[in-house]
Amino acid sequence: MTKDMTIGIPRGMSFYNNYPFWYGFFTALGIKIVLSDPTTKQTMSEGASLVVTETCLPIKIYLGHILNLIKKGVENIFVPSLQSIAPKIYNCSKIRGLPDLVRNVIKADINIIEPTLDKSAKHQGLYEFLAESVKYFGITNMDEIKKASKQGWRVYNNFLVMMRSGMDYKKAMNYALQGKVFIEEKTDKKSSPINVALISHGYNMYDERATMKIFDKLENMDVKVFTSLMLTDEQMDEGIAAMGQKKYWANENEMIGTAGHYLKDNNIDGIISINAFGCGPDSLMVDRITRKAKEFGKPMLVLTIDEQTGEAGFITRLEAFVDMLFRKKRSKIIANAEIKEYDYVPQTNVAETVFIER
Ligand code: SF4
Repeated sequence: MTKDMTIGIPRGMSFYNNYPFWYGFFTALGIKIVLSDPTTKQTMSEGASLVVTETCLPIKIYLGHILNLIKKGVENIFVPSLQSIAPKIYNCSKIRGLPDLVRNVIKADINIIEPTLDKSAKHQGLYEFLAESVKYFGITNMDEIKKASKQGWRVYNNFLVMMRSGMDYKKAMNYALQGKVFIEEKTDKKSSPINVALISHGYNMYDERATMKIFDKLENMDVKVFTSLMLTDEQMDEGIAAMGQKKYWANENEMIGTAGHYLKDNNIDGIISINAFGCGPDSLMVDRITRKAKEFGKPMLVLTIDEQTGEAGFITRLEAFVDMLFRKKRSKIIANAEIKEYDYVPQTNVAETVFIER
């Protein structure tokens, strides 16, 4: 019998940061990818029904995506166990134990492809991980696997280059998957009315259902958003040092490193963090970021999400925060105003004379 050379990838967890790599890698080996559909209310509620309430939202969403792939008739589902991404740098237990969780809560006849990446252990590095990912498909030739990994890195690097140039996430992802790379002119923070840094994991902020299209909402309020994907690893490492921290969690870069970098940036007007209810590592990290933001005198909004989070309350808090940032900026400009030529800042009350320097 010929092997089904199809692999299902759930649109959750590491998908948001790593999919360009997997796309390049699997397609180079002739493996067809089927993605689950974008998250909906149903994805969330079906996933949530499988686990205890306290489980964090991203895991509930991930399980919902597995169910979606099963409904699509996909038999081979990719569920990697990302234990440790560098020596002594670990992921949270839920990410590490993802295949076990899926196997235990989903009672269906599926083939879980569950490679393990553990750079803190012997013989579980990148190439062993990649070999495990394709062993089921009968691909065992290491030269072939290494060649395919180069294609994966090419797509991934193109995606990162575009993100770092300030391109919108969906646009950068689409171009990278099409094998194209365009560099957008870097956003000059001085030319945008308000700049905020969004601190969260890719699987929270880029899931449009989980965070209710937060990028579009902020853009409609004339706010330019900066994220971890726009930074290099060195910038995030410096950010961790600026926070007086050492790296232990794999996602410390995304959270602490990104916050540390943007807190030092005088052109960033505020910080918004989004964390999932029930996330242990985030509750510790967000607490540290909040304290540091106070020291830097940077306004910070902490949004916690779960499957019950309503859009109305979410928008109200976002609008109130952005309004406060505009007011703060106006006061600063007025206090430092010199006689120069000015433009009006968008979204301000005409009764107040509000200017921004050209
Ligand atoms: S880091 Fe937090 S949000 Fe992410 S999987 Fe672990 S508990 Fe959930």
